[in-house]
This record gives sequence, structure tokens and C-alpha cells, in this order.
Amino acid sequence: MLALGPDEIAKYPFLADAGQYLKDKGFTLEQFGTDPDLKSLIDKAFDRIEVAADGKVYKSDLIADQVSKEAALPREVFSFLLAIVLLKLSGMHTLIKRFALAEARRAEKYLERDLANISDESKKQLAIRVIDDLFSVQVKKQDDYFVIPVSDYLKHSINFHEREWKLINRHVENGHVFLTPHETVRLIRKELGTYINSKIVNAKTPQMISGFEEPVSKLVSLSKKFATSVVTTGEYPPCIKHAIDVLEKGENLPHSGRFMLATFLLSKGQTVEQIAPLFKNAPDYNERVTLYQLNHLAGTSGSGTQYSCPSCEKLKTQSLCFAIPECDNITNPLQFGKKRVQ
Ligand code: SF4
Repeated sequence: MLALGPDEIAKYPFLADAGQYLKDKGFTLEQFGTDPDLKSLIDKAFDRIEVAADGKVYKSDLIADQVSKEAALPREVFSFLLAIVLLKLSGMHTLIKRFALAEARRAEKYLERDLANISDESKKQLAIRVIDDLFSVQVKKQDDYFVIPVSDYLKHSINFHEREWKLINRHVENGHVFLTPHETVRLIRKELGTYINSKIVNAKTPQMISGFEEPVSKLVSLSKKFATSVVTTGEYPPCIKHAIDVLEKGENLPHSGRFMLATFLLSKGQTVEQIAPLFKNAPDYNERVTLYQLNHLAGTSGSGTQYSCPSCEKLKTQSLCFAIPECDNITNPLQFGKKRVQ
């Protein structure tokens, strides 16, 4: 395990052994539910989850990326730890996913700053170690850039659809890809979220703790806002399953992906009202705009034209195709499962 200083524990609490930290500080979870002085930390933990559920990044008590006062460190670590306890007690997986993603974004910001730190070499080295230890990406500093092996680059950029991420558009030298600190960290965003999510999922669920009941039941209510009970994906082609998966994780699906998904489901006979909740988990979700756009695609508003699902060829050019052998001989996702492989 990495040796972390107080600033690093506050910035990257998921790297610390939070349970051990709790013990070292001489606290038990029960005390947080009953001691009036500690109860405010449960409120802070709840806020941390609520902010994440809203698709935003929790604002820390850190000043200039440092633990400003003695009390800030335990507050940061305890609110993270208690947030996990509340999430586990609620059993709400949608909230866990959103929390993990928001915490990944928060950590990403610090990692990027640490990589770009020119006055403190130790911070840069720790960020490089974190990326290497957690994701096996060997980052090296070269002039003003960070370089990583092409094989690592390809592995981690596979789901990036924008042109600038295509290898052909990158500066490559001696088998290494040149990246800015922002790009280096962006490359591991998904894995960072997955890492934090799996730490939470694998954490033991405690018995209900006295004093935790109210925030836990509030979380159960909160999660209803994000419930998606719309579609089953059994017979859907991989491109559609992938798009639904991206949305369910609370990640961003490009406009072209949303267009594909909506037109596919509309053609399958789903209504605008049935489809709209799928987009609830998108980081930029806006109910009014979503309904407007879906009605437009369905032809129930605007020009009255119903848009059709793009062809497989078009989707390939948009990096939205994840073909499997069963996709052979079809030219549009709507044909998936209908034509037999010859
Ligand atoms: S081949 Fe067509 S149906 Fe299959 S994943 Fe690609 S776009 Fe979707």
C-alpha cells in the first residue's frame, strides 16, 4: 500500500484504509450515531452523497490542496467513510455508482494538479505511483509532457470517441504517446470510478447502527429519483446495450449515442415517457429538454418527421458499434436478432 501523508489521505481517501484510520483515531461507528459532537459528520457524509447524486463534485475543506486545519483531515476521511457506510446500509446501487463517479472526478482534479506541480516533485511522483499502482499505467515525465506506452494508451482510450484521442492524431515517439497532465488523468477516469465503486461494493455491510436510520431512509427516497425501470436489454444489439450501460453508470453518452438509442427504442415501439427515465442518470440530465428532444425524434412535435435509427455503417464511423458475430449480415441495429448468420 502507498505511504500517504495527511494531504494525500484527504485528497484520495479511497486509497487509505479508512477502517484502520477510524480505529487509530479511537472511534467506533456507533459513536457517530449517538455522540452529538460527531453527528454533524453524518450530515456531512449525507451531503457528500447528495451532491454526488446530483452529478456534482463535493467541495472539500482543503485549501490549496492541503489539510488547512488539524480538524479538516478527520472531517474529510470520516465523511467519506460514513458516506460508504450510509450507502451500504441503504443498498442503493444507483447512488453507489453516482457517488463513485463523483469521487473519481474529485480525485481526478487533485491527480491532475499533482502531476502538473512544478514546485513539489514528491506530489508529482505520488500521482505517478497512484496511476501505476492502481491501473498499471507507467507514466514518465518527458519535458513538459507525460508519456505512456502505446499499448497502455490503446487499452485505456478504447472507448473514447472524440477524434483527438485517435492514435493517429497523437504525438507518438519511440513507442510512447505524449499527454498533458489533464489527458493523462482523463485516460484513467473510468477505471478510477470503477476502482472506487468496487471498493464500496466489496466493503462489508454493517448492521443498522442507532442514529443512522434517518439518513439511510432519506437515501432510499433519494435513489427513487434515479430509478430506471424502463427496458430489458435481453434482445438488444451490443451498441444499444453499451449505450444503456453508459447511461446507467451515470457517464456521459455523446449526442450521437443518445440519438441512436432514442431512435432505436422509438422504432421498437417504446413511448417517449418510457424512454425518458433512461437518461435520468446522465450527468447533464434535464427533464424538460429530454422530453422535448424525444418528442422531436418521435415526430410528435416540430416538423412531424420521425427520425430513424442510423445504419451500422454510420454507427461504426461514430465509434458506437461494438459488433459481435451475431451482427453479421445486418446493416441496421433494428435487424439484430432477425437475420440469421448464413
Ligand atoms: S454491427 Fe450494427 S447492430 Fe451490431 S453493434 Fe455494430 S452498430 Fe450495433
